[in-house]
Amino acid sequence: MKQNTRSALPQRLLPCLMALTFAAICGMTLAANTGDHGLDFSGIDRSIAPGDDFFRYANGNWLARTEIPADRSSWGTGAELSELTVKRTDELIRAADSSAAAGSEARKIGDYYASSMDAARIEQLTLTPLAPLLKKINAISDRTGLARALGATLRADVDILNNTNLYTPNVFGLWVAQDLSDPTHYSPFIVQGGLGMPDRDYYLSPSQKMADIRSQYQAHIATVLSLAHISGANDKAKGIFELERRIAEAHVSRAESEEVLKGNNHWSAADFPQRAPGLDWPGFFGASGLGQQREFVVWQPGAVSGISALAASVSLATWKDYLRFHLIDSMSGYLPRAFLTEQFAFQQRVLSGTPEQQPRWKRAVEETNDALGEAVGKLYVAKYFPPEEKARAEAMVHNLVAAFATRIDRLDWMAPETRAKAKAKLLTLKVGVGYPNRWRDYSGLEVVRGDAFGNARRAQLFNYHRNLEKLGRAVDRDEWAMDPQLVSAVNLPALNAINFPAAILQPPFFDPQRDPVMDYGSIGAIIGHEISHSFDNEGALFDASGKLQNWWTKDDFAHFEAAGQRLVAQFDAYHPFPDISVNGRQTLSENIADVAGLADSFDGWQLSLQGGAAPSVAGFSAQQLFFLSFGQTWRRKMREPALRRQVVTDGHAPAEYRADTVRNLDAWYEAFKPLPGQKLYLAPPERVRVW
Ligand SMILES: [Zn+2]
Repeated sequence: MKQNTRSALPQRLLPCLMALTFAAICGMTLAANTGDHGLDFSGIDRSIAPGDDFFRYANGNWLARTEIPADRSSWGTGAELSELTVKRTDELIRAADSSAAAGSEARKIGDYYASSMDAARIEQLTLTPLAPLLKKINAISDRTGLARALGATLRADVDILNNTNLYTPNVFGLWVAQDLSDPTHYSPFIVQGGLGMPDRDYYLSPSQKMADIRSQYQAHIATVLSLAHISGANDKAKGIFELERRIAEAHVSRAESEEVLKGNNHWSAADFPQRAPGLDWPGFFGASGLGQQREFVVWQPGAVSGISALAASVSLATWKDYLRFHLIDSMSGYLPRAFLTEQFAFQQRVLSGTPEQQPRWKRAVEETNDALGEAVGKLYVAKYFPPEEKARAEAMVHNLVAAFATRIDRLDWMAPETRAKAKAKLLTLKVGVGYPNRWRDYSGLEVVRGDAFGNARRAQLFNYHRNLEKLGRAVDRDEWAMDPQLVSAVNLPALNAINFPAAILQPPFFDPQRDPVMDYGSIGAIIGHEISHSFDNEGALFDASGKLQNWWTKDDFAHFEAAGQRLVAQFDAYHPFPDISVNGRQTLSENIADVAGLADSFDGWQLSLQGGAAPSVAGFSAQQLFFLSFGQTWRRKMREPALRRQVVTDGHAPAEYRADTVRNLDAWYEAFKPLPGQKLYLAPPERVRVW
């Protein structure tokens, strides 16, 4: 349930989550566009009627004058803020280098970054770092060996409910989190994976666009194998692609993967060979360090069975080719330049339309963040998140929770017993602002200067083992799902908690030098969005303790679902391309959170006035400023392939439709007076009200 502005790493294909993902969203620079604090008034296109296209009314001039930077697949408010944050983080990391004590966090950060930056050293090592790993694959001689090799690829690289990252290139991904049926302990969740492209649709869709991408992907596989001096690359690429296509056939769709009631399947270790025959499961779990684990949650049972069957039916030789390719492809960033260039050519240029590779320092910052996120975050908040801003943000969250409680009180359709349970859940919501109360311990992570490849492998394994160690321990409600230097926000449904990282709590989302109405329209709506995730179509299935348990009366839930269905229809009607519409079901939880969050923030702003006067600025009333600020928060320009990719793989609707959420709020009609017949106009009974 996340909102995220960091661009996807090529090797991770990070989707934008159940949090407010800006990965799929926004962008705006104050210095460049507004000249001062407030809104970008020059970015408004007054020739467009707000009632016809609110997104282009709020952002039309900005869209016309803005070029997406060459190393980006999209640009907008969140991206600009991410760019600034990456620059600041880079300065902090460089300053952490040099003579810090061996084993200290500062030294690890400095050495990790320096190793990623040392292109000459990486070039000089050629394929040496791969050699021992390829040797192990070469030595696979039977199905047990295959199962062990597949088990050794398991990493803690997915997140079903928080960051909603459902993608892993390994055959399966692992998420360790509170058990949904008994949130007092952790469970290992097994998630489908194994595709080199972002989603099953890329393999199975009949559209010509996707068919073209498939040919390019097969060529990419062959190129990677050739670069690694593996003979017969074209034939092998064909076999690997065909195996992935069959894995894709076993996969469950993105929309279905979001349904928690379908995902919460408890299997014992003994169930695997029975329910998913084919793969040697004791071999797989033994090699993944889960040999002693008795209970699992299998999120997509059909996919697990399907992939397991392929482990027995597809030839060992093809599986070995597959393992070689995935190993090399996933480590391209730490191999000589030719690999990096090829990875960029497919993952970024073909799949996202990005013309140019990121400069090395940006990648090095991302890699260091991935490995040592909270250690870097500690430096970031010390410099860029003053206690006054933390206090101001906490006060705002407090105010929005109070406004949400009042909204619950006012829901005339809801039975008193459901209302009491909703209130209880709201009151136990654990809010984290800026950074965690307790920082992660990196003392067990070994960083070797000059070994970028080894550092990356060790960091992945360190993170994996840290997650395995949670199994059997008491649940830690203080753990954060995001680093403080990430421009994003997240709801953690099973913890009944929300995190607002420091990096999103800054201009233009949150700015002490302008009237608060504009903060409410921007960060306020984001905070409201995250609070609302606790009550969206998925979040509402969890009780105050984080247990997956229906606390609704039958009638109330039916009413709530009917409102959701209307929102599904509203988003299904948006067509970013003639051949693709937004998937209203896939994006429902985010859209509910947008509608409810915006309404909550509007109420919170009114509450904050305490009867005082509302300002007008540049000829706009306070109410208009609130909605304009919201519309500019979602300003975003995307390259065509990236937009297609978002529509297929993301739980968030494209930004422009998120900006148009305003059409469901009566207050927007009072502010902008749209007329019946205009494209966004909804008659009062058609406006979707949830919470
Ligand atoms: Zn969200």
